[in-house]
Amino acid sequence: MKPQKLIESNKRFTKARRALLEVLKDRHLTFKEIYEELSKKGYTNISTLYNNLKFFLDNNLIIEINLDGVKYYDLGLDNPFHDHDSHLHMVIKDEDHYNPTIKEIDYPEIYDAIKSHPVFKHYDIEYIRILVSASPSKHKHK
Ligand SMILES: [Zn+2]
Repeated sequence: MKPQKLIESNKRFTKARRALLEVLKDRHLTFKEIYEELSKKGYTNISTLYNNLKFFLDNNLIIEINLDGVKYYDLGLDNPFHDHDSHLHMVIKDEDHYNPTIKEIDYPEIYDAIKSHPVFKHYDIEYIRILVSASPSKHKHK
């Protein structure tokens, strides 16, 4: 089922599930960060969070980004820059590689370029997720 339809039609959209989608809006958070945000809203049941997260992952409403072994969660819907099947993220790291910033990159042409590559001709692509790791350039621009 399409993610949007699932949300509109499904009775299983409890308040806790809606709150989970809400905290992920325009952000990429780790499990711990999601938990902290939800706790502020009064949702403190960690196993409910596990279950809801799994439900959304299974239905492509939330996707997982693995950044150097740390999982970040991201909305697969209502996102102007990507759908659940196409993500281009840039991770900007500071000098200590601490507190990375994850940014959405708007570059839809890249998905077309990949999809039209002959190597994929006989396959149905499930998703394209690209992660570009970067740090601010040390070179002065001319
Ligand atoms: Zn994202």
